[in-house]
Amino acid sequence: MQQIQSEDSGFWLLTKGSSVYLQDGELPCGKAVEFGLAGRDGLVIGALDNRPLWLVNECDDERDYVYLRDLLGLPERTFNLLARGVELNHFFRTHRFCGKCGAKTAITQDEWAVQCENDACSYRTYPVICPSIIVAVRRGKEILLANHLRHKGGIYTTLAGFVEVGETFEQTVQREVFEETGIKVKNIRYFGSQPWAFPNSQMVGFLADYANGEIRLQEEEICDAKWFRYDEPLPPLPPQGTIALKLIQATLELCKHSTE
Ligand SMILES: [Zn+2]
Repeated sequence: MQQIQSEDSGFWLLTKGSSVYLQDGELPCGKAVEFGLAGRDGLVIGALDNRPLWLVNECDDERDYVYLRDLLGLPERTFNLLARGVELNHFFRTHRFCGKCGAKTAITQDEWAVQCENDACSYRTYPVICPSIIVAVRRGKEILLANHLRHKGGIYTTLAGFVEVGETFEQTVQREVFEETGIKVKNIRYFGSQPWAFPNSQMVGFLADYANGEIRLQEEEICDAKWFRYDEPLPPLPPQGTIALKLIQATLELCKHSTE
């Protein structure tokens, strides 16, 4: 990071946890001095509308922050840049000391990383991204959707879970679907991905087909899971902008054309 000068200008991203500061619904844009940011530490993390996007080091202030998840309606590129800021901020704040020798770290100038200030160590750590699979399962003209405990009584969505050490993404898909619903899947295909800064995950999306099994819920995580026909009323679904909804829409389209 570097000290922000009064005349530095661009878009200003202030983050607090997984929330970002908006002024009248927009990212502040202009000179640092206009927003009281001169003298704070910052780092350019990309560009928006051909202007630099500055991430400003988090500090306690009285500004109103908006939860990033409530901004899913933004264009994907903008949303992902905000996610980058949130994730970098989370990384810097949780890596202030070297994980190897315990000395203080400093943010490096040449790449997004922190480096141990103990010369005998100099260990460099890079932003931690935790991959998580997310998968939509189809059986003929039906899609498997689950009501998770955290959405109890609300939306039904796809299944998801963190990749474990030593696992391929495909193995995670099989394990998570089976653990959560008792269903075995086949024909697993990569679909797309979405940075998910809550606080530092990456959703890796897949489509899969039903192989065998009957629904058996993992009650610590899932309240309900059902097969829904594409041409019958659907439950409330996740919001626009989520990879979950894109997976569901793609699967419903496959259901429509299925001859099974
Ligand atoms: Zn060290």
